[in-house]
Amino acid sequence: MRFQHLRFAALLSLLAVSAAAPALAQSGLNPTFDRDPHQAVDQEYTKKMKEYTTDSAYTSPLVDYLPASNTVPTPAKVLGDVAGAPNMLPYAEDTYKYFRMLERSSPRVKVVTIGHSEEGREMIAVAIADKDLLDKQKENDARLAKLADPRLIGMDDAKARALVDASFPVYYITGTIHSPETGAPTALMELAYRLAVDDSPYIKYIRSHMIVLITPVVEVDGRDRQVDLYKWHRAHPDLQYPRLVYWGHYVAHDNNRDAMGMTLNLTNNVLSTYLGWHAQVLHDLHESVPLLYDNTIGDGPYNAWIDPLLADEWQELGWNNTAQMQSFGMPGVFTHGDFDTWSPGYLMFLAGLHNGISRLYETFGNGGADTEKRILSPEDYSRTWYRQNPPPPVLTWSQRDNNNYEQSALLTTLSYFSKNTHHFLENYYRKSKRSIEKPATEGPVAYVLPKNDAEANRQVQLLKTLQLQHVELSQLDEAATVSIPAAKRGDKPTTVNLPAGSYVVRMDQPFSRIADALLDKQFWAPDDPQKHPYDDTGWSFPQLFNVKVVRVTDVAFAKNKMSPLPDPSVATGHVDGTGSLFAVSNTGQTSLLGLVFKLKPEHVSIAEKAFDQDGKHFNPGTLLIHDLPDTDVTAALKTASLDSVRIATMPSVATHTAAAPRIAFMHSWLATQTEGWWRYAFDKAGVPYDYISTQTIGGMSDLRGRYDVIVFAPVGHASSDQILNGTPMYGNATPWEKTDLTPNIGVLDHTTDTRPGMGYDGLKHLREFIEKGGLLITCEDTAQFAIEMGLAPGVSVSRGDARVVGTVLNSTFVTPEHPAAWGYGANLPVMSADGMTFSVSNTIGGRGGRTLMDPYQQRPTGRGLVGDADFPQGRKIIEPEPLPQPKPWEPRPLNEEQLRNNPSVIPEQYRPEVVLRFTETKDLLLSGLLDKGGAIAEHPIVVDAHLGAGNVLLFANNPVYRGETVGSYPLVFNAIMNFDHLQRQPPAPKKDAAKKEAPMEK
Ligand SMILES: [Zn+2]
Repeated sequence: MRFQHLRFAALLSLLAVSAAAPALAQSGLNPTFDRDPHQAVDQEYTKKMKEYTTDSAYTSPLVDYLPASNTVPTPAKVLGDVAGAPNMLPYAEDTYKYFRMLERSSPRVKVVTIGHSEEGREMIAVAIADKDLLDKQKENDARLAKLADPRLIGMDDAKARALVDASFPVYYITGTIHSPETGAPTALMELAYRLAVDDSPYIKYIRSHMIVLITPVVEVDGRDRQVDLYKWHRAHPDLQYPRLVYWGHYVAHDNNRDAMGMTLNLTNNVLSTYLGWHAQVLHDLHESVPLLYDNTIGDGPYNAWIDPLLADEWQELGWNNTAQMQSFGMPGVFTHGDFDTWSPGYLMFLAGLHNGISRLYETFGNGGADTEKRILSPEDYSRTWYRQNPPPPVLTWSQRDNNNYEQSALLTTLSYFSKNTHHFLENYYRKSKRSIEKPATEGPVAYVLPKNDAEANRQVQLLKTLQLQHVELSQLDEAATVSIPAAKRGDKPTTVNLPAGSYVVRMDQPFSRIADALLDKQFWAPDDPQKHPYDDTGWSFPQLFNVKVVRVTDVAFAKNKMSPLPDPSVATGHVDGTGSLFAVSNTGQTSLLGLVFKLKPEHVSIAEKAFDQDGKHFNPGTLLIHDLPDTDVTAALKTASLDSVRIATMPSVATHTAAAPRIAFMHSWLATQTEGWWRYAFDKAGVPYDYISTQTIGGMSDLRGRYDVIVFAPVGHASSDQILNGTPMYGNATPWEKTDLTPNIGVLDHTTDTRPGMGYDGLKHLREFIEKGGLLITCEDTAQFAIEMGLAPGVSVSRGDARVVGTVLNSTFVTPEHPAAWGYGANLPVMSADGMTFSVSNTIGGRGGRTLMDPYQQRPTGRGLVGDADFPQGRKIIEPEPLPQPKPWEPRPLNEEQLRNNPSVIPEQYRPEVVLRFTETKDLLLSGLLDKGGAIAEHPIVVDAHLGAGNVLLFANNPVYRGETVGSYPLVFNAIMNFDHLQRQPPAPKKDAAKKEAPMEK
């Protein structure tokens, strides 16, 4: 076999060097990677590397030796063994300790702090290049800054060319964003050593032509927990060890879905570093499929907003990289495969939509540093056109193997990049320039958020998100008018008036692409050849933030006078009017509940109906703030990005005191990520809570005595059985506790055993909690749990065959008078993961009460034609009772027959109320993929179920998702703020009440 031959060549070269460096130190056929024959090899280190490599096919001539140095310590100095040694994982700080040792011992290494995690752990970046380059880094950076923003050189290609000629690029590599993917830190330690020490011509070429920038650990909180867990495993080798329940402070795997919402510290730190160093590439290291998937190329569909140059750079780098790896005979390397490049949520995409190059490796990992026998599945080991040399079906795999692959691939790609710096810098400039030229080419010219007080709070949040993306913002100095092309071809264009002060995202700026990708709409064709979207298909931020944004294509618009907007928060915090009361109209702001907690509920009343006062209109749910010093109120309003109106007297509408309830935020030990996004939103909004688990409530018999609201955010595809019973109890207990061995675990919450679920005691206590007047908030799988456990009478989950994959869908309010709906207009765009909906019924156990045969819709065979009634012959005609025609969001009204002696009938005050439903099919799709939408159109998605004196609020859509769905947060916060006003009184006896059911009054 071909690769055996190459292996033999590699072996020969190893022997050659070991034998005290004869004249030639060739690395095989390809002279590109020849070594310096005069440089000594660290024999001891090299011997260990070889020992830990399970098959000589799993290394390359690039990394099967380590050059020796008299001055620079190898990773063994900190690790006590070589990089990738079995049974050992370093903490982030050990990794940093090594990089700082490198910095002290080599002029080619520089370490900087780039920020901290949510839990205060440091993040670093390590720059490696010749001293000469590092010394000139500042001047070089000034040149790169001009290439990154060609406006600074008057868009002059001749000037750019001179800058390109004089500049060296920056290649940014990031490791271990995903904590169970453990190999990168040691691989990057050794890679840094090689780049600093090795005198092979190709490495000398790399470090004299570019800066390699490395962040060895992106998710530092998660890394330290993963190392704890691994240590626990080493200390208890015969026991099953707990899964990593918490990675980062808030989320797990989704930390790699934050490049749109920019909520996590790690995302912001990496973007600031990437942009601050004016890097050309962001290359993120992951582990999953065997043995190395360079998904730089991936699969279609590609993101529609990238510069086509980037797509070609992906091809160029991906195919070159795999071809080089193939030349070493390393099996299982491929670059086309399962992963579409549509959604820009991945960390690497920070570069993709900021004029750089995004790249990602998936190497193979064992989720720790154990050497394991791995049995692959056919999809992994089969030969396909893009993977002619697949991995073997069974293999022994070590952390060292992983490190060999990561380093070999990175070194070859760095080598290629160093030989083509001019080309990549030219592209970098060209992409930046084309981003600025966008209005004159494909457009649009700008996106405008028309000044609108009702949306100001959410506008600020959208603008701040764009600002975190380093997008420049402006504000119209004067009112402007723009012509908007009709949505349908042939229709007349419309004119939109934009008031002075409207917020403008101009597209003639370097980062227009990220703004365009976030503010535009997405369409994924139902018959796209890609049948497995890798992530969400739609994310349009104007929709998800529930903010009106005008896409302007009229080139004349750019001539309007506008000023830079350095701080979007100036848009809010205004106080109008006179009087001792402050009225904050509810317009769906996300900070009202936080404000109630801050000002104390006894100072806040809530208007239950709309009212007009002093010439102003106030929506239902308006906050009325009283008996507080003015300065306290205005300061709090400013911080909360809220406008207010001072009024002299309380309005005449009914009011109640706002609730700042005692909230328990309940998580399951099955998974904590999806609830983590909710936790993030609550923390950001200043809403306090006790953080408890499903296990906690098993021992809390007086749950209602302790809490008013329990938030049971989604677990993430958990079955009701799993929530109730947990994971199987066959093996040993799996603790999640802070100990000397595991100091980073058990910080957010702890348990002696993660396996048990809520249990029957917990369920009983939960039921009592609701029956005694508590509010339980549930979503997706926890809503299904509440339904299946009988906590939501009259509600069932309804799943049609609609195809929805992270799609933005349109919904409409059914009961605008429900407190959860206060502040909203008629419609609300929502994120739907998979098209889940509910059905409601007036009876227990009913599934919405569908009529099997409806003679008014599908008449049976008989006399007359379709529009005529059939009737039996030879007797008097008796007209049937007219059958009700409930809409998909309505329960079927019960007739006298169905009501008689029926214990399943739910008393009127306990029947579920539908708050929100999907719209009709024709209006349903807003962004993303939707097929067969008729199956879910008009179905309920938010339902308030009544149990005893309390309520269960059920969401079929996730209203608090990845920091992106700001528009739907208030559904949750409104309900909490009014948790004690969701109950209904039994109806007054009505004439003929038994026969005909009328809608309930609240
Ligand atoms: Zn990963």
